[in-house]
Amino acid sequence: MNQQQTYLSPHSLSQLQTLPDFASPRNIFAVVDDSAYRNSGAEAVLASFWKAHRVTTFTDFRPNPQLDDVQKGLTVYQQAQPDVVIALGGGTAIDMAKLISGLAGQENPLLAIYGEEDLRPRQTKLIVIPTTAGTGSEATQFAVVYVDGKKYSLDHPSLLPDIAIIDPQLMATLPPAVTAATGLDAFCQAIESIWSVGATDESMRLACEAASLAYQYLPEATMSPTPESRAAMCRASNLAGRAINITRTTACHALSYPMTSSYGIPHGIAVALTLSPMLQFNSEVNDIDCADPRGPSDVRQRIGLILKALNASDVQDASNRILKLLKDVGCPASLSEAGITSREQIDRIIAAVNLQRMHNNPRQTTPETLVDLLYV
Ligand SMILES: [Zn+2]
Repeated sequence: MNQQQTYLSPHSLSQLQTLPDFASPRNIFAVVDDSAYRNSGAEAVLASFWKAHRVTTFTDFRPNPQLDDVQKGLTVYQQAQPDVVIALGGGTAIDMAKLISGLAGQENPLLAIYGEEDLRPRQTKLIVIPTTAGTGSEATQFAVVYVDGKKYSLDHPSLLPDIAIIDPQLMATLPPAVTAATGLDAFCQAIESIWSVGATDESMRLACEAASLAYQYLPEATMSPTPESRAAMCRASNLAGRAINITRTTACHALSYPMTSSYGIPHGIAVALTLSPMLQFNSEVNDIDCADPRGPSDVRQRIGLILKALNASDVQDASNRILKLLKDVGCPASLSEAGITSREQIDRIIAAVNLQRMHNNPRQTTPETLVDLLYV
């Protein structure tokens, strides 16, 4: 796997200009979320940096990467012929930069998006600067793109950024709703990574620390942020991203995509809504329905690590703690509180579930077990 350099500390953004890559003027393609750039304070830090290089800035894209925006970006990229790509923004800006730089070397980018052709190694260096703490996109080799409303996930080592610069200072002015939703995404990634069938010793080490940090600091980072709580959430998000880069996500993510696309529930809230019921469900794994070749006792042992990260005495206590966390950060704690109340809505979510992610769940599910879990 490619190695990544990570700079994570308050004011680490100022280290960008001191990287050896920028000792002489470079031809930079910058994928920038315009409002994040202005609101995060990055503009003031980077003004002199941009002047020292030849920069083509691409800002013309909508939230959640869309194919036509990626194609627009590819055209601008080809004209610019850059030797380094810098992304600044939330998950969308980072995914856009991964997609544009990753697809630029393909003869037919669409075939790579559809998974019919392997990605070629990226030609340019990719440096990413997140302005939210939660997607972990800076630490993963995944990128999402929507084609005619359908979601495609690319998963390839050449999409992993070379350098991540994570500066908690850039998140100082994030509104509570964004802090809560993105932080819950990191929290869920961490928990799902621990019980994932792909869990390894390394991923569990990363994910346990991420889960415990997010659990401890998300309420403060959301409701009365301090530099300490912002920095802790940056670290939680980065660790969770690195963990799911190894394990991939599971049932909560699988169920979340239709909640977001059909009912407009923000991604981080959509994943968190099923975390508590899924913890209870997975903890009851048995010999017959265990999807992890290591067996149910191994899964239960890892669920024990989740309880430890949440300081919980048992599964019921951990479930209650998750629900309390959701309430404490001002988010709905159940599907019905999020406006999903009818059996028909739940059936539609289950019918559209992402099976690839579902197969990473340690306990097998059926449409019937999912209805029992979600329709309460
Ligand atoms: Zn997520």
